[in-house]
Amino acid sequence: MPRFALILLLCLATGRVFGAVPPADQAAAFDRLAGQLERGEIAPDTRAGTLKVLAQIKSLVPAGDPRRELRYEYLYCVLGLNGPPEEGIAYAEKGLQAARRIGYVEAEVNFHFCRGSNQEALTTPRDALADYEAGIELARRHENQRLVADGLTWRGSVQSLLGEHALALVDFLEAQKFYESVGAPSESEQNLFNIAVAYRRLGEETQARDYLGKLLAIGEQRHDRQQQLAAHMQLGFLDSESGDQPAAQQHFRKALALARATDSQWQAAGIHLGLAQTYNLQGHYAKALAELALAKPGFERMGDRSNRDMVLLQTAEAHAGLGQHAQALDEFAQAEKLLQQSGNLRYLAELLDARARSYEALGRLGAEAADLRRLVKVHKALDRKAHSDHATLMNYQFQTAQREQENRRLAADRALKEQQLQSLERVRRWQRLALVLGGVLMLLLLWLAAREFRRARRLHRMAMTDSLTGIANRRRIEELARQALAEARAQGAPLSVVVLDVDHFKAVNDAFGHAVGDQVLVRVAQACRQVLRPQDMVGRLGGEEFLIVLPGTSLDAAMPIAERLRRAVETLPLANLAPGLEITASLGAAEVEHEVDDLPELVRRADTAMYRAKDAGRNRSEALTRALTV
Ligand code: GH3
Ligand code: MG
Ligand code: MG
Repeated sequence: MPRFALILLLCLATGRVFGAVPPADQAAAFDRLAGQLERGEIAPDTRAGTLKVLAQIKSLVPAGDPRRELRYEYLYCVLGLNGPPEEGIAYAEKGLQAARRIGYVEAEVNFHFCRGSNQEALTTPRDALADYEAGIELARRHENQRLVADGLTWRGSVQSLLGEHALALVDFLEAQKFYESVGAPSESEQNLFNIAVAYRRLGEETQARDYLGKLLAIGEQRHDRQQQLAAHMQLGFLDSESGDQPAAQQHFRKALALARATDSQWQAAGIHLGLAQTYNLQGHYAKALAELALAKPGFERMGDRSNRDMVLLQTAEAHAGLGQHAQALDEFAQAEKLLQQSGNLRYLAELLDARARSYEALGRLGAEAADLRRLVKVHKALDRKAHSDHATLMNYQFQTAQREQENRRLAADRALKEQQLQSLERVRRWQRLALVLGGVLMLLLLWLAAREFRRARRLHRMAMTDSLTGIANRRRIEELARQALAEARAQGAPLSVVVLDVDHFKAVNDAFGHAVGDQVLVRVAQACRQVLRPQDMVGRLGGEEFLIVLPGTSLDAAMPIAERLRRAVETLPLANLAPGLEITASLGAAEVEHEVDDLPELVRRADTAMYRAKDAGRNRSEALTRALTV
């Protein structure tokens, strides 16, 4: 493979052909730049500057990325960089369709705004309302507050152009709230202009001057020529309206210089128109015509027909002022037609007033009277308008105040509920903790109680058992014997006891040691237990002496048991303890005689019988039959 082809393949594989930006980085760069332009963080103050930024954004659109492609297109469209309005409308319509196809709401909304703004320039502002409202509606549905605010400013501008300044102000004030709530400082600053202008047009001079003064100062501080230009223009109109034409002209001249510096042809045309108006008001009609001659081609170049009514009106007034009434009447007539279309009553009043004077000069008193009659009507309508504007504003202020109060109340309610929930939760937490602690305490107490119980039982057992042999000790066996005796007496049943004493036990100790002696005692106790019946009881009286209690047993029945015991001791296998170790025991038995016996007496007789066995040679059982015989 040739070397060149190999390099090309490598480049294609890594996506880095001659230093191209990788797609992910490119998309990020696109988003950054487009976002900055959209939020007004980058705001070139010339058309050329804006076009340059847009070209840069376009170059960053990643290949095969229809969303970003469309984002570039709507920016281009909304910024009004397309040619004549017809072109702009076609561009926006294509964009609208594409946005709907891929479900890109922001783009769809923006193309609505773009089509609307082009429509404004092509026909009349009123025709743009449908698009602005569609955009606002869509943005509201998708809860995009920034776009809702954008739409409100577009619509507000139209309201303003239609002379609905109160409605415009309401839109702008509403938009301002949204911009402030989403944190859009540059949009909200731009919108302050709209608010200022609306105040100006409503005749709220102080408010308007206040806003415009601030905006001019900000523009100067930031060296933002577009902002300074706009502020000077508006201050010019404001001064002109309040009767100070020289001050107005000063602002317009400053604005004009800025418009030239920033290549703002549309604004320049507007400024010339403003200047013409001031000259007309001062009676400098030739100067006014000169300014109008500059304004007209400016608007025409931009394809803007929205100012034609005003241009014609000012031209007519200038011609009338110069005594060229015939020409003036022709221009008044054209202007009148346009003003009736746009419904601008203020300009219509200006027209009727000026034209009446022309009619008067021409001696056409009938026409003059007709215009003056109409003028009275228009003034009345303007009064009504001012009244309704005032009502609109009052209503808006009232509703806003009410809504704010409602919001405050809701917020307070929410805070209270939250607080209640929190304290409830706190109480619940404490309750849970108390329950857990209570449970733990309970378990601890139960454990302590169980331990105490076990300890007591052990102590009791210790107190009742013989520690060496594990059988009942003297106290216990005597207690058991007494109980058995009482039962036997109650039932009239027989009962016998046997005393067992190991023979010559001392000798066992002596011969084999005390420890072996102990083991012998353990074995004897075990042997006793083994040969006895379940109901029989055995205990150690002390030393090598044991007491056996045989409930329900007569002496006759006791003797074989005593024999069994003796035999068991005699045959105990003890060689494993000590070689040659063997033991025997002597036993004495006695049966209770209920009339005379108590336990000591009974045991004493058994003891006596046992001694008899000792005396008779040990390793035997003896019985003592009757108590009285002793
Ligand atoms: P007899 O046949 O007359 O009963 O003779 P004996 O030696 O058994 O009687 P004596 O009363 O003279 O001696 C009892 C001995 O038992 C004395 C004592 O050393 C021993 N003895 C008592 N209690 C214990 C014990 O707990 N362990 C051991 N190893 N010996 C004990
Ligand atoms: Mg003894
Ligand atoms: Mg003994």
